[in-house]
Amino acid sequence: MRIALVGNPNCGKTTLFNILTGMNAKIGNWPGVTIEKKTGKIINTDYEIIDLPGIYSLSPYSEEEELSRKFIFDENVDVIINIVDSTIIERSLYLTTQLLELNCRTIVALNMTDILEKKGLKIDEKKLEKILHTKVIKISALKGTGISELIDEIGKNSFIDKLFIYDSIIEYAINEIEKCLPTHIKHSRFVAVKLLEGDERFKELNTNKITNIVKEISRNYETDLEETIATQRYQFIEQVKKETVQIKKIIRQISVTDKLDKILLNKWIAFPIFIVIIFFIYYISIGIVKNITSDTIHNAIYEIKDFIKTNLQSIGVSEWLNSLIVDGIIVGVGAVIEFVPQLIILFFCISILETTGYMSRIALILDKIFRKIGLSGKSLIPFILGSGCSVSGIVGTKIIENNNQKEMTTILTPFIPCSAKLPIIALFSGYFFPNNSGIISVSLYFLSIFIIIISAIIMKKFIYTNTNNTYIFELPEYKIPSIKYVIKDVSDKVKSFLKRAGTTILICSIILWFLLSFSYKLEYGVNIEQSILASIGKAISWVFIPILGTNSWGATVSAIQGLVAKEQVISSMSVIAGISGDIEGNQIFSNGSMFDFFTASSAYAFMVFNLFSAPCFGAISAMEKELGSSEKMLKAITFQTILAWCLATAIHYIGTQIERGNFNFVNFPIIIIIICIVIFSIYNKKYSSCRYCNLCNKQKIKT
Ligand code: GDP
Ligand code: MG
Repeated sequence: MRIALVGNPNCGKTTLFNILTGMNAKIGNWPGVTIEKKTGKIINTDYEIIDLPGIYSLSPYSEEEELSRKFIFDENVDVIINIVDSTIIERSLYLTTQLLELNCRTIVALNMTDILEKKGLKIDEKKLEKILHTKVIKISALKGTGISELIDEIGKNSFIDKLFIYDSIIEYAINEIEKCLPTHIKHSRFVAVKLLEGDERFKELNTNKITNIVKEISRNYETDLEETIATQRYQFIEQVKKETVQIKKIIRQISVTDKLDKILLNKWIAFPIFIVIIFFIYYISIGIVKNITSDTIHNAIYEIKDFIKTNLQSIGVSEWLNSLIVDGIIVGVGAVIEFVPQLIILFFCISILETTGYMSRIALILDKIFRKIGLSGKSLIPFILGSGCSVSGIVGTKIIENNNQKEMTTILTPFIPCSAKLPIIALFSGYFFPNNSGIISVSLYFLSIFIIIISAIIMKKFIYTNTNNTYIFELPEYKIPSIKYVIKDVSDKVKSFLKRAGTTILICSIILWFLLSFSYKLEYGVNIEQSILASIGKAISWVFIPILGTNSWGATVSAIQGLVAKEQVISSMSVIAGISGDIEGNQIFSNGSMFDFFTASSAYAFMVFNLFSAPCFGAISAMEKELGSSEKMLKAITFQTILAWCLATAIHYIGTQIERGNFNFVNFPIIIIIICIVIFSIYNKKYSSCRYCNLCNKQKIKT
């Protein structure tokens, strides 16, 4: 038996799922998107249960809704458990009325009943059951009450009765349309309503007769049928509420949540508090933990590496195989393992922010600003974390619910200079801009913010056009987090990170090791200049001519090496420049070195290229995971690299003109103005309003 858990966001689906399955869930993504898919088995039964994403309706306005509808339609769902937050049933019932139009047994689980009384509410579930013509069970997923009754009910094969909620004209039309539908259509009533509403997704079922019925019926109403149907649904819901919910007057005490919100959502200090909290997390996970653990793990990996190397030598393993295992695999995979302690702390902090209810507040504080450029209020967190390490930043995008906003944030996060890019900035700005190195470094941060904003606007316009979908802010009460839940959440996330990053990193490390260690004749242990990587560098170094002003395979290969880790760019340059030991800027660029061609403008351009082009493999594999497909990941890194190339080329061109004194300062502002006009004409502000209902006005919206 297959059971789908359906309900609004935050109604307690995951809590119920965990209690029903004993926290034994298989977590993956829905095909093609990065929305999380959780499946499991109800304890002591063979009932398969699926935690569908939180939705407000079955009208495909968002990806989550589309996905849920598709799942219910295409997969054989035997029972739907519709979780309804009993403290706000008027909001949940919109979805319920749609579910009850499906030809599928639906059990309504009235959740949160433990806090009903505190809220001064009383629900007559027997009456609700009668009105909805379906089984209603009071539960508390948090306290575990009513759960066994719910499981018992699933096992029963109770009869479902049709529910009629519209006026006689619409009911007549539904009936007539149902008769015109092919007999294999399982959910004929639902489909008939959708055809009346003019839903595009069902238009292949439209026939002339149906079109005529719809036309005929719509003459009876002033508003279009979609709105008429929605209005009648709300009238039904109002009626249900009137008949089943008793509201007792309670003297409302100022709750802890209200008190905390007075401070945490205060107009003046909300933002500073948020910044302090985020920097605290950043400081612990990327500062302290990284310093403590990275060195330890780093040393441990090197010790293991030496140990294995010696042992492999002693048993007579060939040098190349030894090098593959040690320099390729252990070092490559070790680089990922170094991140793990940081990530554990990071996930832990994020999980705490989420479960205490503070994360919803962060989203609220920033959403207005970020939404304008197609991002989410929560995007700032990956950006801030990304300044420490892009991998943490990208993995941190998990907190963003809207798939498009999440993907955009994933693609933009690597633009923030991560700590591994600092050596590049330090080396080049220190050597080429000795008097202004601080300003030059800061300018790169500003450039990255500017590029993120411009890219977001462009992506929103052309690629992610549906980022503004309705997101109703719900501010849950503050809660003390459940440690069991947090631990489970953290371990799930770490496992999934290790699995994916481990495999991608492994393959990439082996490939790079091969390219660096072998010549085309497959001779092992050749000088780097004869390696395959060098030949590749020589073959594509022309690509870098507009950035560098000269043909340099060394700089090309170093930039490619940045794929392993951005720090590699510098160490690779020093290796290629023929300098061993510590890297010192002056030597890399001194006269006679391979890199003596760099000028201030090509140096700045080269930094910009390395900053904005495809990130390291660790970040790329994190991107692949968060974007949900290799294809999207490839597109994203192509976009990043092309953008980096264009930017670096432009900077080199303008810089050289200035250096030569040829730069026409009058042209410059005019070009900038033209670019701005083009971008802003592309980006016309159009915001869709909430399409669902008039209920939003009744939400707890705090601004
Ligand atoms: P989902 O978005 O539908 O998956 O909702 P979650 O399961 O994540 O729950 C949202 C919040 O509601 C969490 O903080 C839960 O602890 C809380 N919650 C869930 N069920 C209950 C319940 O029966 N009673 C109370 N008081 N809180 C609950
Ligand atoms: Mg959930």
